[in-house]
Amino acid sequence: MGERIALYDLTYQQLTDLLTGWGEPRFRADQVWRWLYRSRVAAFEAMENLPGRLRARLAAETDVHLLTPLAEQVSANGQTRKVLFRLRDGNTIESVLMSYRQRRTACLSTQVGCGLGCVFCATGQGGLVRNLSAGEIVAQAIHFAREVDRARRGLAGQPGVNVPDSEHPLTHIVLMGMGEPLANYEATWQAIETLTDARGYGLGARRITLSTVGLVPGIRRLAQESLPINLAVSLHAPDDELRNRLVPVNQRYPLRELLAAVREYIEKTGRRVSFEYALIAGVNDSPAQARRLAEQLRGLLCHVNVIPLNPTPGSPYRPSPRERVYAFCTELEAAGIPTTVRMRRGIDIEAGCGQLRRREVGHPDSMAL
Ligand code: SAH
Ligand code: SF4
Repeated sequence: MGERIALYDLTYQQLTDLLTGWGEPRFRADQVWRWLYRSRVAAFEAMENLPGRLRARLAAETDVHLLTPLAEQVSANGQTRKVLFRLRDGNTIESVLMSYRQRRTACLSTQVGCGLGCVFCATGQGGLVRNLSAGEIVAQAIHFAREVDRARRGLAGQPGVNVPDSEHPLTHIVLMGMGEPLANYEATWQAIETLTDARGYGLGARRITLSTVGLVPGIRRLAQESLPINLAVSLHAPDDELRNRLVPVNQRYPLRELLAAVREYIEKTGRRVSFEYALIAGVNDSPAQARRLAEQLRGLLCHVNVIPLNPTPGSPYRPSPRERVYAFCTELEAAGIPTTVRMRRGIDIEAGCGQLRRREVGHPDSMAL
């Protein structure tokens, strides 16, 4: 179909190959890379230090528009913005920006849908449509970075003034949106390399967290990588019997194997792992289950993030009441497991995984921007 080359899909090397293949000197790749990831311009005309003929060729044969925002929801307190994007093939994904004090965290999707079917997850109910490309993952971060850039220029009252290179518009990135990042390993890892590349966006790897449902081969592979990103593992149950029901992929990678892989990961990298645990009323939230969880995690360099379930329409699962959440955390802490309760910021905008998309699919124009 002669589709244009998506520049955000290219590694630095691939961009260099493309431009040198066009007869351009190598330094042009560095210039384009900086326009894409430092200045984050949305149009080739803005790439002022490139010769006109190169800008024209880029405009004719390549593309920087991978995502079209279709709908946006902002939480009542303004701290959470969730965007539904249309991809070039018409599929939709969503991403979230959480701004809190000095932090601006973007939550990115890695797949359209997800094939792993966790019973409480809106994304899991629709199945997997396809993997995202590296560029489609990166472009979500760029979208929010541009929004922050614009807001800063607005605040400074000086439209058009560039943000200093040293300031990162996003302070953190979490791969916790739609999809399972380790089921789309190649593209996810390329996106991480691109976003941490010091010649461009240059976000510190320690500011990136990848959340996995627990795909053991992927965790082993991650342990070999050199970039020190953070790993979060979605546990949600303290034993196989319950986890098999809530997180069906546990039947393939049961807890014992999963925790062995996590232990290896910690030994190899020396880094603390977080476990995500969504508390579901009457299902996984008893003090006895907290004690069982603490037993499973004993001796691991880890941290537990307890999240009251984000209820999804049509689902029988409900969040645990506040007292139950605190009782659960108290048990974990008493057993020596560092625990935090993640606030449900953005709950009024259905900021849970896949929730906006589910409502909007079939009505893509109902909240058109
Ligand atoms: N597939 C990956 C990353 C995307 S989901 C994973 O499962 O880890 C990101 C996090 O949101 C996971 O911890 C997931 O279990 C959690 N999650 C999904 N649906 C949720 C809901 N309704 N309420 C609370 N957390 C949810
Ligand atoms: Fe997929 Fe994660 Fe949702 Fe499970 S929780 S269905 S792995 S996106």
